Amino acid sequence: MISKRSLKVDSSGIRKVFELAAKMQNPVNFSIGQPDFDVPEELKEVAIKAIKDGFNRYTVTQGIEALREKVIEYVEKTKGRKYASNEVIITSGVSGGLMLALMSIVDPGDEIVFFDPYFVMYKHLTNLIDGVPIIVDTYPDFSINEEKLKKAITPKTKAIILNNPCNPTGYVYSKKDIETVVKIAKENNLLLISDEIYDGFVYDTEFFSPAKIYDNVLILGGFSKTYAMTGWRLGYALGPSEIIAQMIKLQQYSFVCAPSPFQYAAVKALEYDTSSFKETYRKKRDLIYNGIKDSFNIIKPGGAFYIFPALKKGDVSEFVEIAIKNNVLIIPGNVFSEKNTNFRISFAAKDEDILRGVEILNKIAKEFYEKF
Ligand code: PMP
Repeated sequence: MISKRSLKVDSSGIRKVFELAAKMQNPVNFSIGQPDFDVPEELKEVAIKAIKDGFNRYTVTQGIEALREKVIEYVEKTKGRKYASNEVIITSGVSGGLMLALMSIVDPGDEIVFFDPYFVMYKHLTNLIDGVPIIVDTYPDFSINEEKLKKAITPKTKAIILNNPCNPTGYVYSKKDIETVVKIAKENNLLLISDEIYDGFVYDTEFFSPAKIYDNVLILGGFSKTYAMTGWRLGYALGPSEIIAQMIKLQQYSFVCAPSPFQYAAVKALEYDTSSFKETYRKKRDLIYNGIKDSFNIIKPGGAFYIFPALKKGDVSEFVEIAIKNNVLIIPGNVFSEKNTNFRISFAAKDEDILRGVEILNKIAKEFYEKF
């Protein structure tokens, strides 16, 4: 019964840890990629009102005009590029946008280039639609090496995906990194898909979008992380009108439209000041980094809510197993990478859980290293 296409992809390694968590008593859960706070009350009220006011039907495929206009305004203000109304679509999460984008551009055998460590969906979605993932190593410091990227480009390359800030490393690409990617994309006339879902969580620098310096960029942005609306399934894409037109066409035959009442609430969300969320998460970043930096080799994350420590010695899968036995849920690096040298912590957790996790991780790391 089951298609070869389905069998090509494995179920997410994160889900597997998730399922383990359900059976544990009060674990320190560092596995979840969503904020620990709830949607702000005033945004919930807008969604409830939209439902009560009868905004419960299909919207136009590309999303309601008020939200598209607001997204254009937000992107102009924060990313320095003004888009026209035929250059934007409201999607069912960034996941929806990514799926539509890849379906719009990939023919069988086409290559999609992205950087290792990577967000899991890039590899699986590319495989699912018969594209070929080409994965460029960025270890150990996660910055972009021009020569390595150049080598990855072939006549079959269709696009490069850049995720900034990055899941799973929390790494924020420097302006120079981004200029390098843009240079290669320009020289080879490639689309650059810029996954900016964590743009609300950049702690030490100003967010910089490649769309500011390159025309052939498809920005993917969303509401899941910034407003803790992961279950509301809302995102957007902005880019060249011919690609957006294809994405709208494909949305007609798949997602149909993003959830209607939440589109109304998202208009309000883009007026909401989220700086306190960012500040709270900057402190959590400092708490976890300062707490475990002596036990592991770590590139300090500048954004998102992830940290991706490398073990000083030993096997990561073994270490993760020990951590889980000690009630701390972390994800082995090979879920997000061709290597298995690191593990991912999501520090979107309560401060007391972060402190509890820090203590346990330091203790088990010390015992683990002593074996060698
Ligand atoms: N891109 C990245 C890098 C992510 O981490 C996630 C969520 N884990 C997504 C896209 C998808 O988010 P959503 O579909 O909820 O907008």
